[in-house]
Amino acid sequence: MIPCRVCSGETEPVFEAEVLRRHRVRYFHCPACGFLATEEPHWLPEAYAESITLQDTGLVQRNLVFADEVAVLLYFFFDRSGKFVDYGGGTGLFTRLMRDIGFDFRTYDPHTPNVHARGFEARPEERGFEVVTCFESFEHFVQPPAELEKLLLMSRNVVFSTELLPSPPPRPEDWWYYGLAHGQHIGFYERRTLEHLAGRHGLALRSFGPLHLMTEKVIAPWKLRLARKLRRRFLSRYVRRRLAGLTQGDHDLLGARGRPS
Ligand SMILES: [Zn+2]
Repeated sequence: MIPCRVCSGETEPVFEAEVLRRHRVRYFHCPACGFLATEEPHWLPEAYAESITLQDTGLVQRNLVFADEVAVLLYFFFDRSGKFVDYGGGTGLFTRLMRDIGFDFRTYDPHTPNVHARGFEARPEERGFEVVTCFESFEHFVQPPAELEKLLLMSRNVVFSTELLPSPPPRPEDWWYYGLAHGQHIGFYERRTLEHLAGRHGLALRSFGPLHLMTEKVIAPWKLRLARKLRRRFLSRYVRRRLAGLTQGDHDLLGARGRPS
């Protein structure tokens, strides 16, 4: 039997699908925690030949939406003057957007060159972040508990995105999020899977639109719902007005750093 990579429980084979048009891959579901995973993903080197998939046309739009959502979340529920890190931050686009709004964000990504937030990299051993964000990564993790522990060393408040797996798991042809064409999505979470992971670390799980939050803070779900409802109308504009963006300040700072002393 194949043990669940989240809770070590016994899994059940649910279907087979063709990944990257050439690998016949078995998928296993865990009745105990709801996690669905592929067999040992031996095709990952092929799948990551390009770290950002060619077909990901939604990348910029997703970053803009997440920036708005996260700005409201951080402004009202966390220490907005703290430092933040975007883990697996890719080209640094999200970090740049958040700095433009006025949050002291850094980016960390060992796999992708930082293009948009150069000069604002975090080191993996850095600690004491108010919040760590981690977008479109959980479904890529081979060992989710170990990856979550790395995030939690940076901050006990984690904001992340992943599409929730419907229950029962859809057939491979019925859910785009399996990502069979690019082969990078190898683990899928029901809400109870995320609750299991959060609970193991004594954290609460909250959802904020498309985002999930594991946090040690006590935040009433109705407050999150209200903030999100108001967000569309004016909150993100309000937050942008209230905070002085760092666009010009960063420009000046980088210029001063680059000047020979
Ligand atoms: Zn499990």
